[in-house]
Amino acid sequence: MKPQTSSPTSNITPIKRNSPGVPTSFEIFHSCGHTSTRDLSDRSADQRAGYARWLATRQCTDCWRADHQADAASTAKWLAAKRADEQAAAADWATQFDMPPLEGPEKILGWAERARHQLVTRAYTALVTEGTWDEAEWAQLEEQVRLLTRAGWWVDQREAEGTDLPELLEAADDRDQPTENPFR
Ligand SMILES: [Zn+2]
Repeated sequence: MKPQTSSPTSNITPIKRNSPGVPTSFEIFHSCGHTSTRDLSDRSADQRAGYARWLATRQCTDCWRADHQADAASTAKWLAAKRADEQAAAADWATQFDMPPLEGPEKILGWAERARHQLVTRAYTALVTEGTWDEAEWAQLEEQVRLLTRAGWWVDQREAEGTDLPELLEAADDRDQPTENPFR
């Protein structure tokens, strides 16, 4: 029988205490290369070593937090960029199709403009591109879209199906539209 020449190096070291018993503190060599001292006295004696070994397979708290924040920051950056693209597309579309500015609280105007652009685009795809509507019918619907300038209404319909837009526009009441269209 061969002697065991190497033993797996341990990445936890119990910290010696003056009192007898199972150590409650461990020095942990984390996967990121950092070391931390953890007080595991809130765990039962027979679970401490196993938990310490599990901690050693993980990054230290600082590294974990740094990675996590980097992820969150890049997600936020990606979302902001996506939103800016959508906003630019909505603005171009509004100019091209003579869509009036929306009315409502400042903080939802951008959101409402994106929602209007996206819902009207979904409706065009469903009704004209993939449906049976002709351009004259669509032009009539577009006229109703122009009259509906309440930002909150468009935000409320942001998840609507494109095919539902005609019915939604019919259902919109007078308070969603100015009495006279100042843009005509
Ligand atoms: Zn670390």
